Amino acid sequence: MIATIIDGKHLAKASRAQTRDRVTRFVAAHGYAPGLATVLVGGDPASEVYVRNKRRAAAEAGFVDFHRHLPAEVGEEAVAALLDEFAADQQVAGILLQLPLPVGLDRSALIERIPAAKDVDGLTTLNQGRLARGVPGLRPCTPAGVIELLDSAEVQIEGADAVVVGRSELVGHPVAELLLLRGATVTIAHSRTRDLKSATAGADILVAAAGVPGLITAAHVKPGAVVIDVGIHRTESGLRGDVRFEEVAHVAGRITPVPGGVGPMTIATLLRNTITAAEIGATGETNRDPS
Ligand code: NAD
Repeated sequence: MIATIIDGKHLAKASRAQTRDRVTRFVAAHGYAPGLATVLVGGDPASEVYVRNKRRAAAEAGFVDFHRHLPAEVGEEAVAALLDEFAADQQVAGILLQLPLPVGLDRSALIERIPAAKDVDGLTTLNQGRLARGVPGLRPCTPAGVIELLDSAEVQIEGADAVVVGRSELVGHPVAELLLLRGATVTIAHSRTRDLKSATAGADILVAAAGVPGLITAAHVKPGAVVIDVGIHRTESGLRGDVRFEEVAHVAGRITPVPGGVGPMTIATLLRNTITAAEIGATGETNRDPS
């Protein structure tokens, strides 16, 4: 038996169309188009591609593009000043500081310059604290996209045994928190986990976010499990994930492909966070749940 594919491309397309409609309504209501500010520092080729894709998708959804590309040698103060400028600009609804930053720049300090209300990547301490508490806040894009993929496939999260491989601030940790908020019993495996196979073998939902190509094999997966592959690796034969798709697809019940799984959802969620931030910013609502 071959697992059912969870189609992130299709889901992302529908989500982006909804965001486009919301942007159109926003423009009609407020008389201006909200903007997304992307800040890229240095010349990391993968980051350049990611930022280009995000800007293109944002423009297609009707957002104004406030992109700035700074050289790798730029000082931290210049990046901070740029973030402050976007923070003060009424038209900028969302600010995205593309990671990783060049060596020498303090990532945490720079992320904290972004006001929580414009933190469309959900990475500030305030938004991460809100996530940990389970109160409304802008959620990190890739983790929120993972949950949406599970919901689209009607996966029962409540009560499920979920294992997240990876504990990064950007992906693994927030995915685990979101699953916990939805009532899963969550295990986080990471680089110090002694026996990864025994940690993953009982998972009803397995999220692979280790950044290690092909780490998850058929032997890691319970028959019928739902497998979400967050990993992205450029190889000579194209994009690959953390999961050995060909063999795992014979064991899993449902699985996301790479490409076409989590990746498109990351951008779709970014756009949704941006229109949500714009709507909340323009109306001054304080009680609305942006997640
Ligand atoms: P990271 O390097 O910050 O974190 C990796 C985590 O995996 C760490 O917590 C580490 O402990 C764990 N890990 C590493 N080796 C392991 C092993 N052998 N066994 C178990 N755990 C191990 O990476 P990240 O930023 O969280 O990204 C993870 C992957 O997801 C990368 O491939 C990245 O490119 C990809 N990614 C994809 C998207 C997307 O939109 N699809 C977005 C962000 C990141």
